[in-house]
Amino acid sequence: MIIFGTSSSTIHPAKLDGGYCPYCKTENQMWIQGYRKYFHVFWIPLFPIGKKVYAVCSHCKGAFEKHELTSEKLISSFENFEKNEVRIPWYHFTGTIIFLLLIVLITVLPFFN
Ligand SMILES: [Zn+2]
Repeated sequence: MIIFGTSSSTIHPAKLDGGYCPYCKTENQMWIQGYRKYFHVFWIPLFPIGKKVYAVCSHCKGAFEKHELTSEKLISSFENFEKNEVRIPWYHFTGTIIFLLLIVLITVLPFFN
């Protein structure tokens, strides 16, 4: 039985503003998507270990990393999204929060006895 390991959660896809696909050159058809990875113990997310974000063309279905993008507008739109939208959800720290609470309880409890 696996009691710990890594898991991932999908970042909700969003349409990128303007730009064109580096492969098929179709304009204004680029989407951003990705996922976050986290470490879990007993399926409780313990801490985040990273994220992967990439652009997808809805015309040719090509997936591109940031460094593969050629359109200036697309890159800035991509960076904006990455900075503002791709936040780490609080529940990725659930395990850490529980662990810290336990430590606090263990430390504080003797004072009440
Ligand atoms: Zn394309």
